[in-house]
Parts: sequence; structure tokens; C-alpha cells
Amino acid sequence: MRGNGREALSTAHRFAALSNEKCLRHVYSGRQGGVSPAPFSSLNMSVSVGDEPERVYENRRRLIEALDDTGHCLAIGGQVHGAEVWEVTATEAAAAGWRWDGHRRTADAMITRASGVVLLSLFADCPIVLLFDSQTPALGLVHSGWRGTASRIVSRAVEEMSTRLGSRPESLRAAITPHIQRCCFEVGPEVPEALSVTVTAPIEQWTDSARSTVDLSQVLRSQLLDAGVLPEHCEVDSTCTRCDREQYFSHRGDGGRSGRNGIVALLRD
Ligand SMILES: [Zn+2]
Repeated sequence: MRGNGREALSTAHRFAALSNEKCLRHVYSGRQGGVSPAPFSSLNMSVSVGDEPERVYENRRRLIEALDDTGHCLAIGGQVHGAEVWEVTATEAAAAGWRWDGHRRTADAMITRASGVVLLSLFADCPIVLLFDSQTPALGLVHSGWRGTASRIVSRAVEEMSTRLGSRPESLRAAITPHIQRCCFEVGPEVPEALSVTVTAPIEQWTDSARSTVDLSQVLRSQLLDAGVLPEHCEVDSTCTRCDREQYFSHRGDGGRSGRNGIVALLRD
């Protein structure tokens, strides 16, 4: 099904600091350029929201084609707002092979040292953190909504990349996808409470009489720095998924019935 010359994706986003890395390919998508009807129109990446699987697979094909490289295994972590880190090994990837529904395990974070393994994470308001080390080389994708952030899943992924894959934190580059930003991320008091104990820097909060918001990317950045990642190695796409609903699916903005944006990344030889 891959590379059969059908329509390619016209709207593909990449992180500036990572787009010229020799051993990395990555791309992330929003709403535009797929085949799904409303309310998943049109580039929905998830089979778990009520969309037809065959449409989702065509959407995935378009996104993966935009990588400009081919993989031999598509790995998709089942996202449950947990703190599990899944290392996708070369052996299991080879055994799983390619399937559009993906080689799956329940885990919000995936890490790998194996080339040719395409990691896919889905997002609609939650940030995904891409971790890349050109030295090892090694790659990770981490789904980190506020619950995952409160569980320090990104710090755990950095630790696991260090202990299992041999990546030094100071060699890691981190990049954060569009997500619901501080302009729109209204929270109850339990959220800043849960987040503030995970970092050494104070959590910024914006409160007026009507509402209170927090900045998840600021918390994630603090966690990354606490884990040893260098400040100049952190990039954030500051697009707000809820404000920019033309461009991105937003769980909150779409009233809970929505498609999912996707990010894919792979290591190459
Ligand atoms: Zn916003």
C-alpha cells in the first residue's frame, strides 16, 4: 500500500532544529489533506474515535509518505495518560513487520535505537515530545498531557533512553508539538498542584476571576532541563490547537468529538 503514487500530503509540519538531521526523519500533521468526512475531516490518524479504519490507513499512508523515507515497522503506543515507556527493539520490529493498524502496546512513551521503525503518536490537545540523540542514535516520542506530565513521563523517557539506549541527556534534542496552550488550557486547582511537585522551577499560572490556566510546555521544558537536557536543545511549536482549529484537531475545541493529529518519526542508517 505504500508509495503507490496516490495523492501526497500537502500540509506537513517539521521542527526547524531537527529537519536537517542526517539520521532522523520526522513530520507532523493537522486537519488538512486527508480522506475522512466530518467530524474527522480530513486527516484523522486514529481508529479509536469512530472513523472508518480504511480511511485512517490512507491518512497514515499520506503522512508516512511525507517522511521521504521508508520504514519496515509501524509502532503505535496505546495512549492511556500513563507513565509506561516502551522500547521498540529491532528484533520485535522485524518480527512484527508492517501493518497499518500498527504494532501496538499500551504505552504513552516509545523509544528505539532501531533504524526503519516508524513511531506514530496521536494528539488533539496534548503535547507530544520528540526526543532525538544523533550520537547513539536514538529516538523517542512521548505523549504527555497533564496527567502524563504529572507522572513525569518525559523524565522517565529521558532516563530510559540513557540507561537502555546509552543516550546522554546533554546530547538529546527535544521538540514539542502544537497543543492546547496557556491561552486556552483552563484547569482546576488540582492540576498546578500535581504539576508543581514534578519540577524544581516554579509553575507559572494565570488566574483571573473566571478561570485559571497553565502552560504545559513550560512544565515539560522544566522537566527536560531537570533531567539534564540543555536549554538550547528544546524547541516548542507554540501553535495552540484550540485557537487554531482550522489547522489542527482540538479535543476541547471540537467538543470532544474530533479526529487526531499525528506525528511520525524514524531513525535511518
Ligand atoms: Zn489557545
